[in-house]
Amino acid sequence: MTTANDLIHLPAADLAERLSSGEVSSVEATQAHLDRIAAVDGDVHAYLHVAGDAALERAAEIDRLRAEGDAGLGPLAGVPVAIKDVLCTLDMPSTAGSRILEGWVPPYDATVVRKLREAHLIPLGKTNMDEFAMGSSTEHSAYGPTRNPWDLDRIPGGSGGGSAAAVAAFEAPFALGSDTGGSIRQPAAVTGSVGVKPTYGGVSRYGAIALASSLDQVGPVSRTVLDSALLHDVIGGHDPRDSTSIPDVWPSMADAARAGRRDGALKGMRIGVVKQLNGEGFQAGVTQRFTEALTLLEGAGAEIVEIDAPNFEYAIAAYYLILPAEASSNLAKFDSVRFGLRVNPPGGGTVEQVMSATREAGFGPEVKRRIILGTYALSAGYYDAYYGSAQKVRTLIQRDFDAAFGRVDVLVTPSAPTTAFRLGEKLDDPLAMYLNDLTTIPANLAGVPGIGLPIGLAPEDGLPVGIQFMAPARADARLYTVGAALEQILEDRWGGSLLSQAPELAVATAGGTN
Ligand code: GLN
Repeated sequence: MTTANDLIHLPAADLAERLSSGEVSSVEATQAHLDRIAAVDGDVHAYLHVAGDAALERAAEIDRLRAEGDAGLGPLAGVPVAIKDVLCTLDMPSTAGSRILEGWVPPYDATVVRKLREAHLIPLGKTNMDEFAMGSSTEHSAYGPTRNPWDLDRIPGGSGGGSAAAVAAFEAPFALGSDTGGSIRQPAAVTGSVGVKPTYGGVSRYGAIALASSLDQVGPVSRTVLDSALLHDVIGGHDPRDSTSIPDVWPSMADAARAGRRDGALKGMRIGVVKQLNGEGFQAGVTQRFTEALTLLEGAGAEIVEIDAPNFEYAIAAYYLILPAEASSNLAKFDSVRFGLRVNPPGGGTVEQVMSATREAGFGPEVKRRIILGTYALSAGYYDAYYGSAQKVRTLIQRDFDAAFGRVDVLVTPSAPTTAFRLGEKLDDPLAMYLNDLTTIPANLAGVPGIGLPIGLAPEDGLPVGIQFMAPARADARLYTVGAALEQILEDRWGGSLLSQAPELAVATAGGTN
């Protein structure tokens, strides 16, 4: 007998098996997750919108198709999934965490959402995020912060803190996120989850509300490497509606993850430790777990090599010119005419005054800060000095990657410099907030894929620590193999996954904290 408590703790892959064998129904699985959300989301606040009856109706439909022996059901048919609110959904509001889009229901689905539906997954709802994906803590959401399930006084990372917290709190088996500078991998790190930023162009961004178009990627968050791979296989592939989409046929990420579980998967794998992204500036417990993980990788037959990437040091500086520049341009479309909010100044006003009043009321302080920075960086007379220089640094970082991948198969860093910090701790210090993305931003600047997975708890605070692997563009499959291999080694040591072993999880038991 599978209980409701079992259903929320099962990885998506296992849940899919029980659904396909008929042991459980999609309605039961969906209801178990909705009950879990009802029990704990008052504390966690991972969701901005819960699909509720719509999810149950879709689940019933999938159960009916299965009962009729429908051979066309996808391997994940009937499995619930959460969706970051940056992705357009036909039947649910899509706010990107902003007041300016409050209540806005898009007239179309993002391609990745359409693919989820076509693969017969059950959208559970939309997850909280920093406004327009700007942030590392989800505190910049206009709808209030999400809390970390490991410790409700701490942040769940950002911008995709809602997706990561939903997964870590067993409010969804897996979720979609978006990663422009780390918004999938950093929340995964601080919640003990797995998160993947695919190769730039590997997953469609059609219908993803754009932050910085040369950096944005959509990707999976989950509790196991295989689950991320399964979700990646559903959402990945060429989309003619996204002009940056790569017209390749991709290998199965799930097969790559399964290959990582076979003996000897790491034999001869050359793993490069980035000298610039290790040690100084990192929390001691993060460095300790990271160093232990390297020893485990070496013990499994990998060769550990130190890699010098001198320009990585300038990644944050370049990113915080390129991102605001692109964001200021992308966000110009929120002009009170085409989408969402319109604020009329008292006594009316010109078109310009209406736009200005709307943007003043509709955007939060971090979004305004970046629009101002970006507009400045792009303005005549400053363009070469700021945006132009940042683009040159970006090229140098790409060359560092090229040189590194001439010597090693994958690069490795801690996923984030610290474990989850306390709510409010960095809110008034933008620079401190920006430094959280130290290790994740280089991959976005170069367009290469990255995977983050948990490697244990920091001794000083008992909070999750993540490791990140990066591979050359298009070699996403390799990341799943390496990630699954390390996950297997760690599970053997721990006797299960980190999340299923966590006594500290503030909302670990069904029923929540109260
Ligand atoms: N934290 C980074 C930022 O604030 C990353 C955001 C993202 O990946 N969307 O820009």
